[in-house]
Amino acid sequence: MKRFNGIARCVTACAVLTVLWGATPAGVVTANEMPATDVVAAAAAHNIGVDSGKRVPTSAATGSIAPDVTVSVAATGSAATTPTAPAAAPILPTKLAADAKQLLFGKRGKSLTLKLTPTPASAETSTVVWKSSNKTVATVSGTGKVTARGWGQCTVSATVGDVSVKVPVTIAKKWVAVTWDDGPGKPTKKLLTQLRKRKVHCTFFVVGSMAKSKTKQKLLKQMKKDGHEIANHTWNHNGSAGALMAGLKKTDTVIKKAIGKKSTLMRPPGGAINSVTKRCGKAIIIWTVDPKDWRDRNANTVYKRVVTGTRSGSIVLLHDIHPTSVTGGIRAIDALAKKGYTFVTVTQLLGSPKKNKIYHSGAKTVRTAKLK
Ligand SMILES: [Zn+2]
Repeated sequence: MKRFNGIARCVTACAVLTVLWGATPAGVVTANEMPATDVVAAAAAHNIGVDSGKRVPTSAATGSIAPDVTVSVAATGSAATTPTAPAAAPILPTKLAADAKQLLFGKRGKSLTLKLTPTPASAETSTVVWKSSNKTVATVSGTGKVTARGWGQCTVSATVGDVSVKVPVTIAKKWVAVTWDDGPGKPTKKLLTQLRKRKVHCTFFVVGSMAKSKTKQKLLKQMKKDGHEIANHTWNHNGSAGALMAGLKKTDTVIKKAIGKKSTLMRPPGGAINSVTKRCGKAIIIWTVDPKDWRDRNANTVYKRVVTGTRSGSIVLLHDIHPTSVTGGIRAIDALAKKGYTFVTVTQLLGSPKKNKIYHSGAKTVRTAKLK
């Protein structure tokens, strides 16, 4: 038997034991509905010796847990102590977070109310100062109600005392998720520089074997820093039923090593879906626009196909292992920006993508989305 069965169980058991201890004759523990492990953990937490291995009743105390389980408790330490009351909440919050890290609104006039965590005490609610960095994009009321006023981006902030929180807000007319597969490759560094200049956020479906070196791990870190999303495209571009799960797992490790967490999104190589893909445990992201940039290595062709194929809500497929794809893709991004597109990551486009669900595109008209 394990003496300690997790902190949470121990805490629960302690509370139950405290009650039972007080209600029964001194030195006797009855724990009719408690699992044996909980009694042992609770007794141990109260410095009471437990003969858990032999389960032999001792003279000090015995407890019958279930008809077939008996645990003996020897009262060698002090019995249960009175639980101490939780510490009083601090008067001012020491940290503050809004309920959304970024807001995306579709239409002018739409609004959402931001909530703060921890919620300021009622006496402080009136002292929260809400501000918008650009009132022509969005305004914010004294209660945290953010209203879309025009296309663009701004920051909404809330301040209580010395503590403040900032939330980026995007009011998008049309939106698109540009994705880059099979890398990181040779042109990836240049691509990141170009995207950074434009403040454009993309999603990179990386191949694990391409991302493991020190140099590539650096690139992954840079992607995260720049606001891009990193997702899983298998280990060596093998999505077959026999290789998929192991490849995803190995690539998760490489991604996690670089950015601290694995991706909840995957893209099957070639978009091919088999019985294993359908239950791989990640959201399955296909695409709307395929400019065949891997086959036709011509920047102008790539540019034209992306621009003519993109609609609001599209997911665009490109490959950051071909210089022509990077050149054509950047030109296409500039042209789409002029048409009023906002560039978002796949998760931003889809809201909360569900695991094992197949996606080809996001909402055509931008809906109100709160992003955790
Ligand atoms: Zn691929």
